[in-house]
Amino acid sequence: MSDDDQSQSCPFCRIVRGEVPAKIAFESDHSVAFHDVNPQAPTHVLVIPRRHVANVAELAAAAPVELADAFSSAAAVAAQQGLERGYRIVANTGPQAHQTVYHAHIHVLGGRSMAWPPG
Ligand code: AMP
Ligand code: ZN
Repeated sequence: MSDDDQSQSCPFCRIVRGEVPAKIAFESDHSVAFHDVNPQAPTHVLVIPRRHVANVAELAAAAPVELADAFSSAAAVAAQQGLERGYRIVANTGPQAHQTVYHAHIHVLGGRSMAWPPG
């Protein structure tokens, strides 16, 4: 499948294009942040690049400035959501890590104490 075909059917590209509703938390030139539909913490926001790539490693290789933008957008979300006591950033990568959407994304989780090690 070509990148264009993948982006046509990709659920997160559809959010970027405004074809699917999402509760947008923050936007920058390169990134869009929206609330996860199945939150795992009081604050659970996904930060995604506008560009369709499968995961954050591919984003780092293709566009390091956009990867940096995703992380600074995550920090902006954390500040906006009042997570001054801390937050966790997660980037599930591949099937064994339970990545379910193959458009790069960073989970920003906060508002409760986090367990370590993660499950
Ligand atoms: P991952 O398992 O790391 O690939 O995470 C994908 C995340 O996307 C899950 O936490 C889902 O709940 C979330 N998700 C899937 N579709 C949507 C959607 N349309 N709007 C918001 N969150 C979504
Ligand atoms: Zn996509």
